[in-house]
Amino acid sequence: MIPASDPVEAPGADAQGANRRSLVLLASLVAILLAAWGAGRVAERWALADLRRTAQAALGLQVGALRAEMQKQASLPLALAADPEIAAVAGASPSGPLVASVNRRLAQVAEATGSAVIYVIRPDGITVAASNAGAKGSFLGRDYGFRPYFRQAMGAGAGSQFALGTVSGRAGLYLSRRIGNADGVVVVKIEFDGVEAAWRKSGDGVFVADSRGIVLVASDPDWRLTTLRRIDEAERRRIRETLEFGDAPLPDMPLFPMAGTTDLVRVGQGAQPARVALLLDAPIPGTEWRLSTLTPLGRTVERERIQAWIIAALVTGLACLGLTALAGRGRRNRERLARASAQRDALEARVRERTLELTDANRLLRLEIEERRRAEAERERLGRELAQAGRLAALGQFAASMAHEINQPLAAIRSYADNAAILVQRGRGAEAAENTIAIGRLTDRIGGLTRQLKGFARRASPKREPVALAGILRNALELVEARAAAAGIPLVVEPGPPELHVLGDGPRLEQVVVNLLQNALDAVGGRPEPRVGLCVRETDPGRVAVEVRDTGPGLSEGLRAQVFDAFFTTKSDGLGLGLAIARGIVEDCGGSLNALDNPGGGAIFRMDLAKAPICEQDPARGAAAVGGPARAPLEATT
Ligand code: ADP
Repeated sequence: MIPASDPVEAPGADAQGANRRSLVLLASLVAILLAAWGAGRVAERWALADLRRTAQAALGLQVGALRAEMQKQASLPLALAADPEIAAVAGASPSGPLVASVNRRLAQVAEATGSAVIYVIRPDGITVAASNAGAKGSFLGRDYGFRPYFRQAMGAGAGSQFALGTVSGRAGLYLSRRIGNADGVVVVKIEFDGVEAAWRKSGDGVFVADSRGIVLVASDPDWRLTTLRRIDEAERRRIRETLEFGDAPLPDMPLFPMAGTTDLVRVGQGAQPARVALLLDAPIPGTEWRLSTLTPLGRTVERERIQAWIIAALVTGLACLGLTALAGRGRRNRERLARASAQRDALEARVRERTLELTDANRLLRLEIEERRRAEAERERLGRELAQAGRLAALGQFAASMAHEINQPLAAIRSYADNAAILVQRGRGAEAAENTIAIGRLTDRIGGLTRQLKGFARRASPKREPVALAGILRNALELVEARAAAAGIPLVVEPGPPELHVLGDGPRLEQVVVNLLQNALDAVGGRPEPRVGLCVRETDPGRVAVEVRDTGPGLSEGLRAQVFDAFFTTKSDGLGLGLAIARGIVEDCGGSLNALDNPGGGAIFRMDLAKAPICEQDPARGAAAVGGPARAPLEATT
């Protein structure tokens, strides 16, 4: 049977569903985070690539600008070294007015070109003229013979050095040129305050370092005179001795390369948290310096990354939602299919079960039918045995009766024989002949009795074959018509359809009909309006009734109960065997014979027989049977 609960909806299904949902949620979150992280990385990379391009371009511009600035100043010493007044002032014992004039000119030139200081040094290293003459911290009279830029110019004709001013304490680039043939040196000091201010304005970190990695110019004043690389102690000592950078401690520049990158650094900002910047550098042509830019990654990369995070998270979230919905639909489909499959299985199981039940019931029914058949056969056998037993039981009674019946004719025969002998002796032949005729009649009677006895005692063989009912009736009527005609009793016959066949033994059924007709003729004898009827009727499907009616005295209930008993007779010459034998014959043929009271007066004997299928040969056979045993009526009743 189909179980009451749905087999798919197991009790743990809810818990499983909740677990699955949690897992899906977790997986979705992980996917969203991974996608956001990955997208952030990609966006960061793209943004960095953009930034690099921009910074590279800016770096080129910065180098170009610085170089232009330096070149503008670089030609100045050359021009001044060729000036005769300046050469004169560097010579031995220049006049006071000359020096004053040169000082004025140098101040004008410095003012015009933006140089920090311009001064003239004699071959012995003493400054003889300067643009800052007269000002506090003037270079006049100071000895710069130790300066490398002086020595380079005196030796090679030109020199340059970035150094701290020993007087001003301000760093700057010293460009020097020899006057004539070692007649002195003209020096132009360039300070980069303006450049640094411009760099600061741009927001980017920019600095220039020399070949040793010492930062000379920087947008951030804190970076000045810091080092990108470690400076060994000997070099430091040399720097101190040459007063190149005064007593500057030359600390490390606060730049920290970021692991896994080539050009990203963290830039320390004192107490401020370090920020990440892109470090690019390029050589400054014509010098041994390199210009570096520090472009903060700042908000651009951050914004790109956050945007990528948001977009990736949204897209992944939507994708997860879509996938979850799809998976949910797939799961629901699978569940629906599983439910349908379970129902189909249950239905099939139910059909199988029902089929088994039906098979069992069918088997039981067949057994029952078989049992009933056996019981029916047994009942028939017992019925036959009983009838036979009844016949045999009756036989004793019959034998006694027969002895009595036979004794009387035997006694009469004896008497007739004795009388005949006497009559013959007395010559009364005619009378003797009458006696012998009487003897013959009596022996006939005895012969009839023995025949009856034989027929009664013989066990009927149940012969059932299709026989034409019309033939049976015709033969039977032939035997009684003469008697009826003689007695003036009309026979009313309704023979039924000529092709009607019944199952049975044709000749013996004829005996039955003859017996019934003769009993009817007996019954109507001496009655007013005597009439005997014979009619055939089809009753139930497959059954045929043959009725013999008469207008005789009829049968009371008490008589109806006895007429079929052997030896019951109300006739003086009757044997009371006719109806008993007739019923036995009809029952042997599978039919029944009953006596009915006719409410309209008279008796009805109804013989009920099984109808046989129509057979072409049966009428002939039925007709042929008429000439045989049917011609021997039940003499006991006549
Ligand atoms: P029998 O004819 O030798 O008496 P049956 O067995 O043929 O023996 O008949 C038994 C008895 O049934 C008859 O004696 C008669 O009393 C009664 N009987 C038979 N047929 C009829 C009938 N058609 N009408 C009235 N009684 C009948």
